[in-house]
Amino acid sequence: MTNTSPLNKAIDHFQSNYDLYFKKFEEFLRIPSISADSTYSGDIQKAATWLADYLKQMGMQSVQVFQTAKYPIIYGEYLKAGANKPTILMYGHYDVQPPDPMDEWKSGPFEPVIEGKNLVARGSSDMKGQILAGLYAIESILDAGALNVNLKFIYEGEEEIGSPSIVEFIKEHKDLLKSDFCLNLDAGMLGADKPTIVYGLRGLAYFEIYIQGPDHDLHSGLFGGIVYNPAQALAELIAGMKDESGKILLPGFYDAVIPISEDERRELARLNLDEKYYMKQTGTSQLYGEAGYTPVEQIGARPTLDVNGLRAGYTGEGPKTVIPSTAMAKISTRLVPNQTPEMVNQQLIQYMQEHAPAQVKWEVKQLSSDPASVADRDYFATQCFVNALKEVWGVDPVYKREGGSIPIVSHMKDILGIESVLSGYCLPGDLIHSPNEHIHLPTWKNGILANIHFFYNLGNKDAC
Ligand SMILES: [Zn+2]
Repeated sequence: MTNTSPLNKAIDHFQSNYDLYFKKFEEFLRIPSISADSTYSGDIQKAATWLADYLKQMGMQSVQVFQTAKYPIIYGEYLKAGANKPTILMYGHYDVQPPDPMDEWKSGPFEPVIEGKNLVARGSSDMKGQILAGLYAIESILDAGALNVNLKFIYEGEEEIGSPSIVEFIKEHKDLLKSDFCLNLDAGMLGADKPTIVYGLRGLAYFEIYIQGPDHDLHSGLFGGIVYNPAQALAELIAGMKDESGKILLPGFYDAVIPISEDERRELARLNLDEKYYMKQTGTSQLYGEAGYTPVEQIGARPTLDVNGLRAGYTGEGPKTVIPSTAMAKISTRLVPNQTPEMVNQQLIQYMQEHAPAQVKWEVKQLSSDPASVADRDYFATQCFVNALKEVWGVDPVYKREGGSIPIVSHMKDILGIESVLSGYCLPGDLIHSPNEHIHLPTWKNGILANIHFFYNLGNKDAC
């Protein structure tokens, strides 16, 4: 006896069309849609067109490519399920990180190859594979005649460069984007056997600090010893931003931070991510961090400050005896709920006023500011997603607070008033943003099946 329920039909559709879907995936990956490098702006447009065409070919309606100041935002919709069915806003980004350093790739970053169970290519995991995991599931249900949810799509090409256009776009198209909740698959799982729901995200405040000493570079023999070297001043200022136990010393930095409850500590401990795990992930022989907190607490629920780049003096080959006239550092802070980027900006300026030596001039520039967010874990769509993950993996998903920022989640909440269900099928070892990025194909396939269950349950069951 064959089981021909619509759900099984949808699953069959996906499985019997897998080769075709895989080919389309490779096609998408071959477009080098690198947003950070304007040399690739033609390829970004190409990826946008590719995705818009795919939506049209699926039978989605009102597909539009909106030009922005930089890269296009794609919109599409499917509203045939009717007003009494939920409307899901599918969010994703089709741009990718630059592949550098190129010489560390074992194969071309835009020439997808299978290695063992992985498909290797830039953007495979972050997040072209995740976009298609959503679309393939929708297509499969549509084919089974059981797509009973409404859908709206918003795909941007600027996520990897800080999403400069999407906030304005959402504000200007509030009615068009009106939905019940957002499904964002740009997060990931803790392991191939650990489907994961992300409910907390850290915020980000990013700065550049400029130090100006003498008005031109000086000869260190003729002038060394009588001027405050800006590189030295910057190094001292950075060194003073933390004490030896890893505590951040910007004035008032922890004032707004909500302490982690015992309950949450227990829950986070359940994730089983110990020091060894993070030593392996980072390739370090010893970890570092704020005293009194486990690594998983530090990453998810505590704020941080990091130097992301330094520029001063001569760094080319051979010696050059120079006292640089300027020095610059890029500093990022990861924030937890209640801390705002504006607060940290003020704290950093106060710190500089109190500690910068009088012999140099300084300036602090704020480059980006995204607030932190924590979502309601009991939200109905989140629970529906939890059940779909459970149906496929056969285990209870874990709940995680992510160390990174996904600012779009707070924009969806603030501008459209909707929650985001945040998950995805990226694994910690997928090397996203690094050379040899890949996606674990068995996990990706499971993800598509979970998405099928999710869309199906949401549209066809009274409770899911
Ligand atoms: Zn991403």
